[in-house]
Amino acid sequence: MLITEITISTDEPTEKQICELYWQEDDNGKYAYKVKEIIEKTAFNGFQINHIVKKNSAAVASWWPCSRGCKRPYRFYSRSELDTAVRKFNRGNLEPWVCTHCYANELIERGEREIAVRKKKCDYLLSNLKKLSESPIDINRLNGKEIVYLLALLRHSGSEDLTQINPIIENKSDRLAPTHLYSLRILNYLSSQDIICVSPKNDLAKIVFDEDDQIRFSPESVEWLIPLSDGTSIAQLYKDLEEKVAEPNFYKENEEDLVNIEFLISEEECIEYLYKVTNTHNLSFSVGEKTRTVLSKCLETYSVSQTFSFIWNSGRNAASFYMSHQVPKKYAANTMPGFIQRQSERALTNDWDVTGFRRDYDLKQSSLSRVVFNTVLRTDDGGFDRALPVPVPD
Ligand SMILES: [Zn+2]
Repeated sequence: MLITEITISTDEPTEKQICELYWQEDDNGKYAYKVKEIIEKTAFNGFQINHIVKKNSAAVASWWPCSRGCKRPYRFYSRSELDTAVRKFNRGNLEPWVCTHCYANELIERGEREIAVRKKKCDYLLSNLKKLSESPIDINRLNGKEIVYLLALLRHSGSEDLTQINPIIENKSDRLAPTHLYSLRILNYLSSQDIICVSPKNDLAKIVFDEDDQIRFSPESVEWLIPLSDGTSIAQLYKDLEEKVAEPNFYKENEEDLVNIEFLISEEECIEYLYKVTNTHNLSFSVGEKTRTVLSKCLETYSVSQTFSFIWNSGRNAASFYMSHQVPKKYAANTMPGFIQRQSERALTNDWDVTGFRRDYDLKQSSLSRVVFNTVLRTDDGGFDRALPVPVPD
């Protein structure tokens, strides 16, 4: 009952006899001979008998097949191993096992899948390489937004030898744009315009496929390349971009783009400061469209530095509201946009002299802001202290 079949691989009569005696069952399904009896019947000791049995025979048990459905039965090489399995079987806690055949097949299948994924990743990176050679960028055909974004990115993350753009997260001492979201927007925009593409030198582990088999990567974590025509280099492009933005007519020729970017930088600086203030007061807040609209309206009249004072006051007000009314933190923080709006409107109506804040030590001027305000507009962080021209809506 315990043993479906016995396989014996030796023709040597004594060894064969020992194996048969060892595994033989009586009519009740119990072992017909104790090991002690086999010792008495033969000239071998217990250790030798176990060795001969293990080497030359196996008990096959069809009640414990391979868990992968191939039906290969488990093979036992000793009574103790068989007895343990039978006990577990009777208690219902016999664990599944996988035969070497199925295990090898699974390894092969896994290996093939991994190779296919690697190939897809390589194909993606190679298609980028192809793009590099087929559509090189021409600085004279870039618009103002593209020039300013690309220069800010090169200043921020251009490698020391200027052969590629490093992952922006590697630069810990400077920020590309005031907020992380705006930095990502810059990378996505330049990539969508084929001005930068993911470098084939990237570690393949940085690229993954989602459930829909679409390629995914974190734009801030990958190295980028710029498609250039033969004979040009990123170093030359960098020099040309610096010269381009320093041209006296650059602002005038790209005024619409630049007014939009100036305003966006200011708005994002305010959002970043708002997060800093909520953190200072240990409040939780998530900026949405409503807050953006309030800040944007405020910036139509006031500078970033003055808007900071409204934001600071709104944070202090929310914190005291939280303490005095014992409302949830989120609820208290949600009062901030309304407070900024009311305070800025009152300041405007009453013609208050709003004192501006200094730039926060932790929130230094970003690379993009320096390109726009310092290089193009030739001011010293001029977007911070003065109200900006308002973009014309589309
Ligand atoms: Zn199997």
